[in-house]
Amino acid sequence: MSLFCKQCQSRRLPVILSAGEKTMWLCEKCKNFADIDDFIIREQTEEEIQENIRKIEEFKNVTIAQGEKLVRRKGVN
Ligand SMILES: [Zn+2]
Repeated sequence: MSLFCKQCQSRRLPVILSAGEKTMWLCEKCKNFADIDDFIIREQTEEEIQENIRKIEEFKNVTIAQGEKLVRRKGVN
């Protein structure tokens, strides 16, 4: 099992789509999922791509919010 995509050699990311399912490896460049045996299961759907973008945006917002909190806390002390 390689951490790198056999098609484009990019680093793959482990993803678990739902509880109880096996971990799959997503290549963000090729937009496909491979299993632990390096077998390409399927391509990422448009819906999943959008969901991913949404999650990244959400994560950014949380990070920014936490940064603000830290600044405020400093002011209190
Ligand atoms: Zn790839």
